[in-house]
Amino acid sequence: MESTQLTIQLAYVAAAALFIYGLKLLGSADSARKGNLLSSVGMLLAIVAALLDQGIVEYQWILLGFVVGGAIGAAAARLVQMTAMPEMVALFNGFGGMASLLVGAAALSGSSNTFTLVTIVLSILIGGLTFTGSLVAWGKLSETLGSGAVMFRGQQIVNSLIVLAILFSAVMFCLQPENSIWLYAVIALSLLFGVMAVIPIGGADMPVVISLLNSYSGLAACAAGFAVNNNILIVAGSLVGASGIILTQIMCKAMNRSLSNVLFSGFGSVSSEETVIEGEIKPISVEDAYYILEAATNVAIIPGYGMAVAQAQHVVKELTQLLEKKGAEVNFGIHPVAGRMPGHMNVLLAEADVPYDQLLEMDDINPRMETVDVAIVIGANDVVNPAAREVESSPIYGMPVINVDQARTVFVLKRSMASGFAGIENPLFYKENTRMLFGDAKESISGLIRELSN
Ligand code: NDP
Repeated sequence: MESTQLTIQLAYVAAAALFIYGLKLLGSADSARKGNLLSSVGMLLAIVAALLDQGIVEYQWILLGFVVGGAIGAAAARLVQMTAMPEMVALFNGFGGMASLLVGAAALSGSSNTFTLVTIVLSILIGGLTFTGSLVAWGKLSETLGSGAVMFRGQQIVNSLIVLAILFSAVMFCLQPENSIWLYAVIALSLLFGVMAVIPIGGADMPVVISLLNSYSGLAACAAGFAVNNNILIVAGSLVGASGIILTQIMCKAMNRSLSNVLFSGFGSVSSEETVIEGEIKPISVEDAYYILEAATNVAIIPGYGMAVAQAQHVVKELTQLLEKKGAEVNFGIHPVAGRMPGHMNVLLAEADVPYDQLLEMDDINPRMETVDVAIVIGANDVVNPAAREVESSPIYGMPVINVDQARTVFVLKRSMASGFAGIENPLFYKENTRMLFGDAKESISGLIRELSN
């Protein structure tokens, strides 16, 4: 092996090692930044080595792409609001898919043995459906599209026909690669299938879809890696694909559903009309909430998407410190699908330097809930909805939730009686021990802080 090739292969091995070690560091909030940095260095190394490997002699287009892409990335990182991060992640997945589609299509101009053709068609197919599927996910998360499931009669038949048409076109493409009609058919059908596969999935099921699309973007890259015969792309794609699948499994477990059930049952399409709710709403003022809170010795804080909207994580941390100073034990209950992206609450609370050991997972906080004096629900709704346990007809029936209603008193901090992402009513708000502290979460908590510091 000549020395340049040896250096390139060694750079690939080093990049792969950096990816794997970076992923390991991403497993904990303390080391996540370092993990991100190491993985980025790995990616830079991989790109440089891949460019040398392909024997590219003209760099002007690559440089242009690098500058334009880098500028967009840097601007997005600075300008995108923290609350818009989930949508941005969905878009990134989508563009990853599109990149694989383009690489796959471009690889067609090279050699075309059957294996390469199969990998080309896979990268186009998976990349295409990842692209449009992620655009729909982006629309649902940003609420540009409604968050609910879109269902119509015969949908499963239509989808099955599209899958059959994709398979047929893919086989024909491999048999007649010179006939570009099959290539265009695979591209068009996979783009269509991405939309059709994601629209029937609504509300509470979106976390599973997002993790799955994440995994698909990796699989598409992996297939593209085979198509252009690039080892590091295969390694990077497999890592993304595998970690996405693990995340999908975690999300399915968190919702107590099987993957096929999520993908094919149209869950989230059932409306809330079937939930009959008894009891009445009992609003509470900041002052009255303070009197109850002051006497509490055991407090649980359950954050949700509203904490991200209100950007309340820093005042939440301050409230925690004040309560602890007054001798109360304070823990956080983190639901795996709280917020709009996996780990959303952990990221926000880490940003506010809330100690990691104060964050309890759902399975750890639920058994303690009966000993909690006050459970403070901050902008969470679906993840604390007792209908999941009590109302058999509810679309979220069977999904594990944080059982805040079992605490002695529950404060729910939100602005109105609006429902959460799943679009269903929440009987928690009508329970005997629940008090609604209406208003923006940051303002309500700042009010509590003022009272507690007097
Ligand atoms: P929800 O979406 O169920 O509820 C959020 C609540 O926050 C709303 O009811 C809203 O009520 C309130 N809120 C919004 N802004 C504010 C504010 N400024 N101050 C106070 N309250 C506010 O959130 P959860 O975290 O409980 O549940 C997450 C949902 O999102 C689940 O259905 C999950 O499946 C889904 N999802 C999760 C993803 C993930 O990966 N984690 C990805 C995609 C979807 P109001 O308007 O009255 O203030």
